[in-house]
Amino acid sequence: MYTITAGGAGSSSRSGSRFSSSSSKPSFKGRGGFSPRVNSGSGRSSGGSRFQSAKPFDPKRGFKKDRIDENLFINKATISEADVYIPKHVFADFGVNAQLLENLTKKGLIKPSAIQDQAIPVALTGKDVIGIASTGTGKTAAFLIPLINKIVADKEHKILVLAPTRELASQIEEAFMDFSRNMKLFSVCCVGGSPIMKQIRELDLGVHIVIGTPGRVKDLIERKKINMKMFESIVLDEADRMLDMGFIDDMKFILGMAPANKQTMFFSATFSPEIKSLCKNFLNDPITITVKSRDTASAVEQEVVKVSTDKDKIEKLHDILNRPYGSKVIIFREMKRHVDGLADELKVRGFKALALHGDMRNRERERAISDLTSGRAQIVIATDVAARGIDIPDISLIVNYDIPNNYETYIHRIGRTGRAGKGGHAITFVPERKGGRY
Ligand code: AMP
Repeated sequence: MYTITAGGAGSSSRSGSRFSSSSSKPSFKGRGGFSPRVNSGSGRSSGGSRFQSAKPFDPKRGFKKDRIDENLFINKATISEADVYIPKHVFADFGVNAQLLENLTKKGLIKPSAIQDQAIPVALTGKDVIGIASTGTGKTAAFLIPLINKIVADKEHKILVLAPTRELASQIEEAFMDFSRNMKLFSVCCVGGSPIMKQIRELDLGVHIVIGTPGRVKDLIERKKINMKMFESIVLDEADRMLDMGFIDDMKFILGMAPANKQTMFFSATFSPEIKSLCKNFLNDPITITVKSRDTASAVEQEVVKVSTDKDKIEKLHDILNRPYGSKVIIFREMKRHVDGLADELKVRGFKALALHGDMRNRERERAISDLTSGRAQIVIATDVAARGIDIPDISLIVNYDIPNNYETYIHRIGRTGRAGKGGHAITFVPERKGGRY
């Protein structure tokens, strides 16, 4: 395993063969699939940052919080010259398919971001990649561009992308569809909470890329609808989040069934000991590419607002939401019922506010995201899990109505704004009295 800052360009190309031809490669029907039963207990594991610690679960209060120094919630936004990455390539340098290149340009991807600039040339050579990069750095395109290029060169090439949440999985599928427009490539999004029979039908018809959450993918493997042996490329996106969400056994189960001669790409915001150990066991001589994660946080103007009572808190929020930067807002709360409560309160006060949490149906969650994206809603109030990885352009403000459990969660939350090199604003409510409730 070694680390680089930039890699040489190159492209893997094999003679193209027609999709769903009479190839000897295993099909999605899963014949001959071997699926030992493995306990999929959902033990939580920490992401391993110095701010994070595994705290015991209290049924009344939830997970105990780390005490985070308030000063960490304060930052003057700085998008300095030094933060602006100067890419060594333009997308055309990568020698990828012309239609793919045209689609990237149409989506406004002109200059590669740091992770793209460094990961794409390596991935195109077929080497395993560890990308230490958080959301907002352009990592989706960093793995999709080389992989789409592989499928066009060999339509039998199949890809599996694992993501921690349904929202992130469907965002990746959307990006895949945008980047592969007019290329006759097929995808399926295999996530829990959506009808499994529809996913099975798609799998039976044949797809080039399966994007899914670990639990549902494991279920489909066990039903022999996904045969892991057919994947030549596997991506784990936001691997640290998957660990946080207790997917470790499912991840090991899935990776353990993959063929030996595949390409694996592993993306994570942190490189904790658990991530290191997974990489050691499942990756083959990987190249590690690290992108500074301060880029996002430093572009976000962060401040604290002191609050003394429930009434004080809601009044201050009301005032903040009427400020110029209150046009497109995500408010974070810890508990689902508190998310609903605040959404109702804001609606009564005349705001276009919607809730987003795991007890809602997929369709309702998608509506909340699309209404905020289009501007039909001004505010989404969300739990951390529901908002993980969502990419809504131009979020102007993040409000931490409840203080996050640990500093990493804080960084993930504020990373919903200040994306793609743009600035943003984050406000955290903290108790006026030291050790107070608010
Ligand atoms: P990601 O980190 O993959 O979630 O991407 C974050 C956002 O950055 C998405 O809205 C992308 O469309 C956008 N993006 C990704 N790569 C580029 C690029 N090279 N130039 C401009 N925007 C980009």
